[in-house]
Amino acid sequence: MPVADILPELRKILPAGGVLTDPAELFVYESDGFTIAKARPAAVVFPTSTDEVVAVVKLLAANDVQIVPRGSGTGLAGGCVAFENGVIVATTRMNRILSIDLENRVAHVEAGVRNTQLSEAAALLPGGSAFHFAPDPSSQRASTIGGNAATNAGGIHTLKDFVSSNHVLGLEMVLADGQVLQTGAPGGAYEPTAFDLPGLICGSEGTFGIITRLWVRLAPKASGFRTIVGIFGDTADACEAVSEVIAVGMLPAAMEMLDGRMVKVIEDAFHFGFPPEAQALVLTEIDGIEPLLDGQMNDVAGIFRRHCALSVEVSADAATRAKLWKARKSAFGAIGRISNSYCTQDACVPRSMLAAVLARIGEIGREYGLDITNVFHAGDGNVHPIFLYDDKDESQVQNTLAAAEKVLQYCIDVGGTLTGEHGVGVEKLHLMPYLFDQATMRQFQSVKIAFDPGERINAGKLIPSEKIKVTLLKPGRHVPQ
Ligand SMILES: Cc1cc2nc3c(=O)[nH]c(=O)nc-3n(C[C@H](O)[C@H](O)[C@H](O)COP(=O)(O)OP(=O)(O)OC[C@H]3O[C@@H](n4cnc5c(N)ncnc54)[C@H](O)[C@@H]3O)c2cc1C
Repeated sequence: MPVADILPELRKILPAGGVLTDPAELFVYESDGFTIAKARPAAVVFPTSTDEVVAVVKLLAANDVQIVPRGSGTGLAGGCVAFENGVIVATTRMNRILSIDLENRVAHVEAGVRNTQLSEAAALLPGGSAFHFAPDPSSQRASTIGGNAATNAGGIHTLKDFVSSNHVLGLEMVLADGQVLQTGAPGGAYEPTAFDLPGLICGSEGTFGIITRLWVRLAPKASGFRTIVGIFGDTADACEAVSEVIAVGMLPAAMEMLDGRMVKVIEDAFHFGFPPEAQALVLTEIDGIEPLLDGQMNDVAGIFRRHCALSVEVSADAATRAKLWKARKSAFGAIGRISNSYCTQDACVPRSMLAAVLARIGEIGREYGLDITNVFHAGDGNVHPIFLYDDKDESQVQNTLAAAEKVLQYCIDVGGTLTGEHGVGVEKLHLMPYLFDQATMRQFQSVKIAFDPGERINAGKLIPSEKIKVTLLKPGRHVPQ
């Protein structure tokens, strides 16, 4: 049934202002952070409780309407792109922190709570500033904890703190028929028994159901830090230095790399005094027990020097550290200074292949006449080539998609995988069979069908579907059908 016919019923379920249908308002919901894929939903709804989600989902099920779960829409793989005559269910008004239990180091939150909102709230409690929600995607001021779980988000400190699924103890999810599933251990002592359902749901990108509440770990914050900035005149030297730090058995809290183009962008925006001959910058953080830090810092600095670093600066100063990380986290925003539009790719490769992958990315950029810059989680081997293009020039859009596909295929060819943290969404869907064999793809499809037999929640994304076809590389952009 057309969504227009059920709008009065939707409005009865939701509080005032909880249903958007005005085209000007829907414009914002045409895409997520992967702005190449665009489609306008019939409506966007904003439930404020699990009961409202259940009522909405049951109504949409009865009328065979496709549902797209959405948090803050910062996703970079098109997981939130709408279906024609589909409804987006946004969790941003389900943003209450229900409890913070410092003794058991667990917080109970609604899915629309923003990532940093939780750590900020914990810090207001006596003793709470020693704890935080550890996953730290660079979008963390905006992205929701439900979205972080759905995409299994990583971040700058994933190298040591791991991805979101390691911090989700339990969750509540509304299935496509309105059933409410509660799984995991709200109490804080989660140890998977039969199947690790929270682990399976984390990373399912909204294709299993709508996560409404979560129980998440509050991890202790490290108190001692050292920051090491290595500037290199050659990208390959920087990659080899990163690889060696990990190979010798060290575990920095973070190891981020910016290529020469990106160093210039950051320098122009923040004026750190990075030299113009910098072809790569490696920002490393060591954390842990204070008396051990100087030794580890000197070890990292020594490795950087052995790999021909032009300069190595070390610091124990909290203000310098904060400034450097602010610059790193603002890197994506700073790209707005040099390009109308950009598309951030995401793949994971063996660290020993980083230099070859960056070189190939450069070649592919030249082949397609595209400017590509790189800022990425080098310690994890998680590359983020950023394609700069003009959204108004369709040939540049198509070149971006084609070049991105070549980059991803190369990453897979050298032993890597399709995504390090952003997910598959619609963007990388067509490459899933390139990475996985037929038997594995069939198992993935069976798991999706076990949660959503009617294929009505974000169907056709993440895992290709026979019923819902998604095409991306055609002119005219992607629209799920
Ligand atoms: C500037 C910038 C920097 C970024 N940096 C990082 C980074 O460092 N690491 C990283 O991992 N990602 C990063 N991202 C990507 C993005 O922020 C993450 O994927 C984030 O976890 C998405 O959260 P969200 O609330 O915005 O989710 P959305 O974008 O709204 O949704 C993302 C996906 O999750 C699903 N979803 C959302 N909420 C729910 C729910 N409650 N139940 C079921 N499914 C749901 C959606 O259907 C969609 O498929 C970055 C994005 C930007 C724009």
